[in-house]
Amino acid sequence: MSDWRIPLCEPDLGAEEEAAVLRVLRRKWLSMGPEVEAFEREFADFLGVKHAIALANATAALHLAYVALEIAPGDEIIQPALNFVAAANMTVAVGAKPVFADIVALEEPTLDPAEVERCITPRTKAIVAMHYAGYPCRMGQLAAICQRYHLALVEDACHAVGARYDAADGEVVSGMLGAIGDIGSFSFFSNKNMAVGEGGMAVTNRDDLAAKVRLSRSHGMTSLTWDRHKGHASSYEVILNGFNYRLDELRAALGRCQLQKLPLNNERRRRLVAHYRQRFNELPNWRVPFVDGRESACHLMVAVAPDAQSRQRALEALGQDRVQTSLHYPCVADFSAMSRWCNQSLDKTRAFQRRAITLPLFPSMKEDDVDRIVSVIARGR
Ligand SMILES: *Cc1c(COP(=O)(O)O)cnc(C)c1O
Repeated sequence: MSDWRIPLCEPDLGAEEEAAVLRVLRRKWLSMGPEVEAFEREFADFLGVKHAIALANATAALHLAYVALEIAPGDEIIQPALNFVAAANMTVAVGAKPVFADIVALEEPTLDPAEVERCITPRTKAIVAMHYAGYPCRMGQLAAICQRYHLALVEDACHAVGARYDAADGEVVSGMLGAIGDIGSFSFFSNKNMAVGEGGMAVTNRDDLAAKVRLSRSHGMTSLTWDRHKGHASSYEVILNGFNYRLDELRAALGRCQLQKLPLNNERRRRLVAHYRQRFNELPNWRVPFVDGRESACHLMVAVAPDAQSRQRALEALGQDRVQTSLHYPCVADFSAMSRWCNQSLDKTRAFQRRAITLPLFPSMKEDDVDRIVSVIARGR
């Protein structure tokens, strides 16, 4: 498909997925039905969360999270500028204002609780915690801030399916990422740890939020096509103004296969990241963020160069060796579509953007590939 020697990522799709798709085709029911129900149940069990609601993608999950939390025009949502743009775009979609807070450090590129607290105003309604690369944010501190100021905690857990947060000393908050805050979002886009093409999930332990997300997913209608097909309902009422954010059966069937494979695939990712970390020890001025990957879903392998010039040399050397690289992420606050909002200082986010590099990471990758990549960077210095 591409002429990369080592691509950035590659989904694990095999005989299980082929069989699952055939099973759905032969059943001749394509839109939301029994596969979606089973996928939701299995995903909720895996996370130990009360409700999992399958959706068209994670952007829809973030949108419906804000809708269910009744975030309204004029409200503010504090969030990282080091993120994919979806959380900020959906903030604007509900008429609210994104307030971008800086990261803790280049070695810990997640939302800084002290910065978050500085950004709180009487209009603040929610905080979005994004578990960068699959590593947990400082959830104990963020949850404490939310409790103190009566704010909702939304987890953008798109990188973190299968990862945990264990309470630090003196904290009580712990659990699977995505299921700790009021509501969490997951993505099953092609390059994520679980890949179905396009798909997402909202998870929550709150019955009120789950009911609103379920209704909003399908036009605010009180019964679904599948219920009518089964003879459970012949008519419907519309009790809120919803959307069409449903997942279909083919993708749900793929999602069930991907969930089965996730624990082993995440373990493989952790081992590859451990190998990367070991090899990067040989490059004295380079850093691999976070201490280790034990609690991480290891979605991305990101290294931080000593400066922008070294990063540029590494990008060029890897490109010449046909190794695919990426940047997670350009600072969201600096996009022209976000320029209406003036924000706090984002010095660390911007420094990270100038020095970070995302390297290949996927379960079928080999240790030899890691060795090759780090050697190319070492030679390019
Ligand atoms: C992929 C991703 C999204 C968006 O997910 P979609 O399913 O493509 O809508 C949002 N946030 C983060 C952190 C992501 O990685």
